Amino acid sequence: MDCLFCKIIAGEIPSTKVYEDEMVYAFRDIAPTAPEHVVIVPKKHITSANDITEENIKYVTAIWAAVPKIAKDLGIAENGYRVVNNCGKDGGQTVGHLHFHLMGGREFGWPAG
Ligand code: 5GP
Ligand code: ZN
Repeated sequence: MDCLFCKIIAGEIPSTKVYEDEMVYAFRDIAPTAPEHVVIVPKKHITSANDITEENIKYVTAIWAAVPKIAKDLGIAENGYRVVNNCGKDGGQTVGHLHFHLMGGREFGWPAG
């Protein structure tokens, strides 16, 4: 499958790993928009949030279990952070492999732009 994040998970494209377990891989975003900007992906190809099912939601659970661990490792847990999933065209998704942005190290505005 020609998927950028599947290639990153497989090590075919280099990335800066910040966390890994059986179901989850997390790496530094190549174009960070915050002092800390990590992309967290399931190790199984799921195209977008639209493709989350009862069967594969365990990967999303595993991602959320990893979030506080990664935040603590990055030193952003205390001040707080933002977790974002962009889904589809209107959501601004540019890579078709489900992923969550974990961003911190600065304050974010709301509502989203
Ligand atoms: P999206 O826009 O789909 O929500 O997020 C995709 C993210 O992946 C973007 O923030 C983009 O900077 C990041 N990205 C795209 N290609 C690469 C890559 O080759 N390596 C890394 N580390 N991040 C990437
Ligand atoms: Zn993929």
